[in-house]
Amino acid sequence: MFIENFKVESPNVRYTETEIQSVYNYETTELVHENRNGTYQWIVKPKSVKYEFKTDTHVPKLGVMLVGWGGNNGSTLTGGVIANREGISWATKDKIQQANYFGSLTQASAIRVGSFQGEEIYAPFKSLLPMVNPDDIVFGGWDISNMNLADAMGRAKVFDIDLQKQLRPYMESMVPLPGIYDPDFIAANQEERANNVIKGTKKEQVLQIIKDIKEFKAATKVDRVVVLWTANTERYSNLVVGLNDTKENLLAALDRNEAEISPSTLYAIACVMENVPFINGSPQNTFVPGLIDFAIEKNSLIGGDDFKSGQTKMKSVLVDFLVGAGIKPTSIVSYNHLGNNDGMNLSAPQTFRSKEISKSNVVDDMVNSNAILFEPGEHPDHVVVIKYVPYVGDSKRAMDEYTSEIFMGGKNTIVLHNTCEDSLLAAPIILDLVLLAELSTRIQFKAENEGKFHSFHPVATILSYLTKAPLVPPGTPVVNALSKQRAMLENILRACVGLAPENNMILEYK
Ligand code: NAD
Repeated sequence: MFIENFKVESPNVRYTETEIQSVYNYETTELVHENRNGTYQWIVKPKSVKYEFKTDTHVPKLGVMLVGWGGNNGSTLTGGVIANREGISWATKDKIQQANYFGSLTQASAIRVGSFQGEEIYAPFKSLLPMVNPDDIVFGGWDISNMNLADAMGRAKVFDIDLQKQLRPYMESMVPLPGIYDPDFIAANQEERANNVIKGTKKEQVLQIIKDIKEFKAATKVDRVVVLWTANTERYSNLVVGLNDTKENLLAALDRNEAEISPSTLYAIACVMENVPFINGSPQNTFVPGLIDFAIEKNSLIGGDDFKSGQTKMKSVLVDFLVGAGIKPTSIVSYNHLGNNDGMNLSAPQTFRSKEISKSNVVDDMVNSNAILFEPGEHPDHVVVIKYVPYVGDSKRAMDEYTSEIFMGGKNTIVLHNTCEDSLLAAPIILDLVLLAELSTRIQFKAENEGKFHSFHPVATILSYLTKAPLVPPGTPVVNALSKQRAMLENILRACVGLAPENNMILEYK
């Protein structure tokens, strides 16, 4: 059975006019490795830590500024939200299609809330805590191409033509602000698109971005802005001591107009200066150490990297399943071909390299979790190939071959073929990223040994379900397995309303 919403009644939860306050016992373990009677032993001690959470229930009017607004993702997301808001339906060759938010964790997935008379009861994920309704988001942003969003939607060739016709009047007047363009960081084949660029030094460009954010906020009367990079994949920035290794060095390098500060890092600097959450949906290392340093000091949310939309999402499910089942994946080979502008940009070796890095570490945590299968340091062969094939447009093909060793030296090969419009996978993920980033800034918490409430660490690991290469604070484990990432997110939101983590034990019926 499905219920639309619920309220928790418990001595551990208080709903006030402005907040939900909860007390939550975090059941965890403490490990010690000690010498007992001459031999070293691992001792595991269960431990309970009391946490208090408080969530501001005032849902702000949210503005989302996309870097690369006129791209396939930007135009698809903007059109998709308008179609939902306006209740648009359109004729396809199969049927009359209604707008929906399929593919969005917050809008289209469910959580289990309990059992009632022998039946499992589910509710929308978004009913856990008050969240912004995506229909109410005001979109804006930058693009180095000055094409309006209606024409950009046509250029993207993602939506059916009947839908495009209905969306045009809403999108014609949406024109991206000029963007920061540096041909050294994206493929040379993007040059003819760049007719809408901010002039001046890097410092002046940062100041222009800040001005743009302030003007957007004033013009749209939104309470909060989140900025998200969905522009082209850049090459990696070189990490240079004295240039981008600390906050001071990065800001001094900005003053010196150093060439090695990428456009994406410039947008991120502007956002950190303004305390505006910034999320990176592409694979490059926008968050150089100096930027992370700066964000931590300003307590300004940063999250990334690279949307986990298709092939990698499957990988972080399949490898988790294989290793979890005691099967040893030994070779993982992933081919992609796509024909959109993203594919054209990725056909240059330096930008492809960024994608290759971001796609390659995704199985590490699962492999490292099982030393019965893998010797220390041993890894499956893992190869990623991406080719640009214009004809297929946004309809990306991903082909994967997983070879594993099974019982008694046997071999098992699984082959997947995935065909899908890339932007239809990415758009709902962008939505989740901005909605959850906004929500996370309204949550405060403290452990029993902490005096004051504080927000989550500014490096937003809570978003890791949605990213291929989750950015984590220095010294924090990276979790790639999809089910663990989802459980982490759901269970933290459950704790905010005083609900225990979903443990799937269903002891009532055992
Ligand atoms: P796209 O090429 O259609 O759109 C990118 C837009 O960014 C273009 O309109 C371009 O003009 C603009 N742009 C480039 N540099 C800019 C800058 N410095 N400032 C402002 N605008 C700039 O690409 P897309 O298909 O929308 O993908 C966007 C990004 O998302 C890519 O980096 C891609 O790798 C990443 N991504 C996409 C998916 C997916 O499933 N679609 C998954 C993971 C990551």
